[in-house]
Amino acid sequence: MYFINVILPLALPRLYTYQVDDKEVALLKPGMRVAVEFGKRKIYTALVHQIHQNPPLNYEAKPIHQIIDEQALVNEMQLKHWEWMADYYMCSLGEVYKSAVPSSLLLESETVLIKNENFIDENNLSSDEFLIIEALENHQQLPIDQLSSIVDGKKSLSLIRQLIEKNAIRLKEEINEIYQPKLEKYIKLHSHWESPDKIADIFNEVKRAAKQRDALMTYFSIKSTTQNPIKFKTLTESALCSAAVINALVEKELLEIFYIQVDRVRFDNEIEKAKILSQKQIVAFDQINNQFNDKSVVLLKGVTGSGKTEIYVKLIQEQLDQHKQVLYLLPEIALTTQIIQRLKKYFGNKIAVYHSKYSLNERVEVWNNVLNSKESAQLVVGVRSSGFLPFQNLGLIIVDEEHEPSYKQVEPSPRYHARDTSIVLAMIHNAKVLLGSATPSLESFYNSLEDKYGFVTLENRFGDVQMPEIELVDIKEIHRKKRMNGHFSERLIQLIKEALHQKEQVILFQNRRGYAPVLACKTCGVTPQCIQCDVSLTYHKFAKELKCHYCGYTQKVTNSCVACGSDEVVFLGFGTEQIENEIQALFPEANVARMDYDTTKGKHSYERILEQFQQQEIDILVGTQMLSKGLDFNKVSLVGVLNADSLLNFPDFRAHERSYQLLVQVAGRAGRTKRGKVIIQTYNPTHEIIEQVAAHDYLKMAETQLKERQQFQYPPFYKTINITLKHKNKITLDEGTVWLSKALKNTFGNQVLGPTTPVISKIRNKYIKEMLIKIPFNQSLQKTKIAVNQLKISFLSIAAFRSIQLIIDVDSY
Ligand code: ADP
Ligand code: ZN
Ligand code: ZN
Repeated sequence: MYFINVILPLALPRLYTYQVDDKEVALLKPGMRVAVEFGKRKIYTALVHQIHQNPPLNYEAKPIHQIIDEQALVNEMQLKHWEWMADYYMCSLGEVYKSAVPSSLLLESETVLIKNENFIDENNLSSDEFLIIEALENHQQLPIDQLSSIVDGKKSLSLIRQLIEKNAIRLKEEINEIYQPKLEKYIKLHSHWESPDKIADIFNEVKRAAKQRDALMTYFSIKSTTQNPIKFKTLTESALCSAAVINALVEKELLEIFYIQVDRVRFDNEIEKAKILSQKQIVAFDQINNQFNDKSVVLLKGVTGSGKTEIYVKLIQEQLDQHKQVLYLLPEIALTTQIIQRLKKYFGNKIAVYHSKYSLNERVEVWNNVLNSKESAQLVVGVRSSGFLPFQNLGLIIVDEEHEPSYKQVEPSPRYHARDTSIVLAMIHNAKVLLGSATPSLESFYNSLEDKYGFVTLENRFGDVQMPEIELVDIKEIHRKKRMNGHFSERLIQLIKEALHQKEQVILFQNRRGYAPVLACKTCGVTPQCIQCDVSLTYHKFAKELKCHYCGYTQKVTNSCVACGSDEVVFLGFGTEQIENEIQALFPEANVARMDYDTTKGKHSYERILEQFQQQEIDILVGTQMLSKGLDFNKVSLVGVLNADSLLNFPDFRAHERSYQLLVQVAGRAGRTKRGKVIIQTYNPTHEIIEQVAAHDYLKMAETQLKERQQFQYPPFYKTINITLKHKNKITLDEGTVWLSKALKNTFGNQVLGPTTPVISKIRNKYIKEMLIKIPFNQSLQKTKIAVNQLKISFLSIAAFRSIQLIIDVDSY
């Protein structure tokens, strides 16, 4: 008798054992998927963890339905990594499995399928496959378990897998996330004219059109020098003709237009040589390599524009030369486009991109290419989830903008930090990690002070462009004298005017947190609240409605107060939209655009705005946090921060560190090629953080903040575990909170903070309470977690509390 322990894609505390026969055991390996029944006749895709001969003690092992893979989908190093994650972040292996693997590889009974409308080639289908397609045509969409009445249930998962591979069907969840990739326009010879003997004839077609003939000649001359597809734009530029000329050739069916997805263009020989590093870059590069001799992690602190990316390029090259895989992590999908365009020039076909906006099929393709160490996936660029790919021989992980909080996954579990999990992943592979940032997180910086990480700095911008000059404008004084023009000081307006006059671009930054405009009654002060969350609704002028940022609830704007009926209602506070309107009114001639959560919801709107900004179709860009992240524009000479204070006042122990990072990063968008200028408007020009930003004094900031962290017992000196409780019923929640906080305090004493009610105390009709456990370094983290877990079990065994949602977040953000 043989048994396998499997990981189910569910939040189960342990693995389950199934029975396999002799034939199956000969085929099975850890890391392969099997279809199994679990719970009430539900089928899941489980992952084999171990193969053994010990029957389970408390239940009878069921047989499996079917083996899905011929080759392990997940390798041993990944399993080790997942085990570490589950243990460290206090979650189940099943939850890690579920987030790690693309969902089309995890089919289960409840997965809903739909037919792919473009699929027509039904001749290639087996009779069972045909039955499924037919059923989907009749019903539009069906969950997998309903297909078991049509075909043999045990075979259904593999049938569906084949149909997905044939592009005949897809998962319903995919519909919402179909990625509209950016397409680039290319031109080629129309298929009628492809054979070489027709080339003479083709010119007969354009005898009487000189411009078209020239364009066609140009086309052939470009064609003779390259194997690569020819861009529409390249042709108009080289032939010095208008698009209309080329379109005429297309009309005549001599040329043909086609499109290629920008990040999937394959280059054959147009690889650019990497740039020659400056003296300072060489020094940094050598230091990094030297430190890698005895440190597995090196922190590269280089000011914005110092040329860190070019150093990454050299380090990547070294790894690729040794046939090692490289993972390049970025905090945000939006950032990948710019970086990929740069890396493509050097590494061409060796780059694979991986993120959640890609279709499932594309993600599976990247997964398989990485698994098989394919040439086309030697360098993987992606966001935090790319750390889950099945790397075989990873040599280097680069974590760019390592200070970014978006590396931490908040929801769902595993609530992991991709920088920290990368370091563990690298350890498993015996690989190196380079953390890069202009404003390192205090955690990483402290680790370098403690000599755990290596440390290398680049203090100058490339080409010795000076760091932007930061000027503080005290708006308290100006407000008092009533000299503000809306939200703009005269000084800021004057500098905008100058920049526009010089044909330079301007970025205006407004913090996302707080200060969204709300409707308020002048008589009684009441502002309309969300009916499901504990927040004021914010006013969206464009849609003329009031909206909740947490749950999306909307209602129409009322002209009178909902509480007292007074018709004196006014808009308070300011958001990016208001700034946009004000600046447009001040500079009616300028092209103003806005980049924030609302304007970038569409799949590609973010890239479109960036593209327009880069092409200088936008003069002034108003935006939030999104603007701070590593973007590279060379015509921006002025950055204005409208109000620095709301950042500083946020109730969070990281607020000061974050303010410093955000302000320095936003400031870093100015003057990449010649010295730029930054205006920071603030009520507190003497606040230490504001002064440190103005002086670009990271070390001072780190020193003072680290002192405070130590004094008040926060990371990096203490570890934290955050515990959140949520429930619809406030009384139940309060009772549960009291019970748990007493129990925690019994065990951990005054290391427990709270319970507190968060700033937003209710979201989607659920009330929220929070507690924080602080763990000193001389206390075993492992033992603490075991104790917390035991308390959790006791808590949930109390009938009244079972329905309370209890969320544990290790190293919370
Ligand atoms: P960072 O990543 O540190 O912000 P980048 O790598 O983006 O800096 O470099 C800033 C600018 O300087 C970019 O436009 C880049 O192309 C240019 N640059 C950096 N290093 C070199 C080099 N060695 N030779 C030529 N240009 C360089
Ligand atoms: Zn009122
Ligand atoms: Zn709401």
